[in-house]
Amino acid sequence: MTFRTRFAPSPTGPLHLGHAYSALLAHDRARAAEGIFLLRIDDIDQGRARPEWEAQIVTDLSWLGITWDAPIRRQSDHLPEYRAALDSLAARGLTYPCRCSRRDIREAASAPQEGATHGPDGIVYPGTCRGRTMAEAGPGDAIRLDMAKAVATCADLPGLIETGAAHRGTHQLEKSQLMQTVGDVVLARPGMAASYHLSVVVDDAAQHVTDVIRGEDLFEAAILQAFLATLLGRPLPTYHHHRLIRDEAGKRLAKRDDARAIQSFRDAGATPEDIRRMVGL
Ligand code: GLU
Repeated sequence: MTFRTRFAPSPTGPLHLGHAYSALLAHDRARAAEGIFLLRIDDIDQGRARPEWEAQIVTDLSWLGITWDAPIRRQSDHLPEYRAALDSLAARGLTYPCRCSRRDIREAASAPQEGATHGPDGIVYPGTCRGRTMAEAGPGDAIRLDMAKAVATCADLPGLIETGAAHRGTHQLEKSQLMQTVGDVVLARPGMAASYHLSVVVDDAAQHVTDVIRGEDLFEAAILQAFLATLLGRPLPTYHHHRLIRDEAGKRLAKRDDARAIQSFRDAGATPEDIRRMVGL
């Protein structure tokens, strides 16, 4: 099978060194494997995505010497595909509408008898709206996955193959773990065709991605995404979650306000080789 990987930035800000590392690593591996490197623009969140940022991302990647082997896939061009995936889960009775605000969830989850668990989608949902049916869904509702019902439909769960240093190995998906530490995740928010997790799973399958290469902060998300892929009958990619690029004080660059945009290094006279050195490539 031809190695196919992708870089999938959200156009909600400039590329910083952490993005450059991710993109260069994925690109170098695709080239070394004589495989395919794809660029996807994860602009499902239309409230935050900006065309200016997309243009800047394309400029920065090109300056870094990165080329992609197919036209850019933009999530906003594929909304019916996410909707179809969501509808198929709804038709199987695996979803329900939820009208809880973040605050409702925080309060319900931190009730003394509960104790909040955090998963890849934030606080594990305490289940307040679980008894509602899709027929009751209103325009202001989010759509959630009923995890208990979803795991019950799977006879066997696969193992997730991880090749990154921090979690290297096969991680067998477990029903109890999915219910306790992932829970009833949001599949669509009001005004958004699909959640980040659902759209990524649909996209990676649609783009025939064999290898997902991205930052270690998304390892927990991979457990959820691998389960969604299984539920939707999509093949599982191999995952490689790489180390995060941190500043001298050990703080994640993505979390810093000044986040050191690639553009600012370029303006200061840095070369693409300098950037490679700075990220340890
Ligand atoms: N769009 C996501 C981000 O910028 C990454 C998605 C992925 O690599 O799976 O954080």
